[in-house]
Amino acid sequence: MILEGQVAVVTGASRGIGRATALQLARAGARVVVNYARQAAAAAEVVAAIEASGGQAVAVAADVGDQGAARDLIQAAQDHFGRVDILVNNAGIARDNLAARLKPEDWAAVLNTNLTGVFNCCQAVLKPMLRQRQGRIINLTSVVGLRGNVGQVNYAAAKAGVIGLTRSLAKEVASRGILVNAVAPGFIATEMTAALKGEAREEFYHHIPLGRPGEPEEVAEVILFLASPAARYITGQVITVDGGLTLTL
Ligand code: NAP
Repeated sequence: MILEGQVAVVTGASRGIGRATALQLARAGARVVVNYARQAAAAAEVVAAIEASGGQAVAVAADVGDQGAARDLIQAAQDHFGRVDILVNNAGIARDNLAARLKPEDWAAVLNTNLTGVFNCCQAVLKPMLRQRQGRIINLTSVVGLRGNVGQVNYAAAKAGVIGLTRSLAKEVASRGILVNAVAPGFIATEMTAALKGEAREEFYHHIPLGRPGEPEEVAEVILFLASPAARYITGQVITVDGGLTLTL
């Protein structure tokens, strides 16, 4: 129980990587705020799974792209559990298209959720973490933020932005005991990647040296490590979890 007594907020924890992260952190002893945008039933199921194994969790709806809602989310964590030690900025969306055809609203939506949402939650959590002189912030970026991808200028720009935000914030708050890192998954089997079918999917697998997509749990385990005492001398880093994909891109 390496996170015994700690409180974690995981954004976008109703499904996929966020869900797996909420379960892992709870298994390690953390009390978890399960944030979601729309899928209340899925978030309630995550809370029920945590409680069934003896943990504590609460589901809180909030659109992280809305500054006020992000503040309310962090406040809800404090009201419910008394503190916040770990923030995992996982909530994310994709609205893919070639740059020439990308609608302004799809550019804005992805930047707002995937980059501004990360900033909003970081800013909201800084006050309690600075007061505690302790905290861990883990941001989800992507190999697409490192290497770019056809049809994903909006997603790549947001995820590259998350890396710049992570490194800058890590420098700002290191002296106050707050560590800020990013995790860059490759191709992970979730609803976000389920849209890719047939040949396109096969082609992707062909480029992953480990020969298969990753599981959400395999990303969650790295997030748990970054939240744990074992990672106490790591800040401002981007850890890639991609089965070797970036070796071949
Ligand atoms: P997913 O299965 O599509 O789940 C997305 C989660 O984000 C859901 O819980 C969703 O809530 C929540 N969400 C969406 N918009 C939100 C908002 N405005 N405010 C709060 N929550 C919001 O996604 P995933 O594949 O697990 O991806 C998780 C993160 O990893 C994302 O940041 C993604 O960009 C990143 N990533 C994923 C992959 C991959 O291969 N899957 C690769 C690299 C990086 P609702 O259920 O309520 O809609």
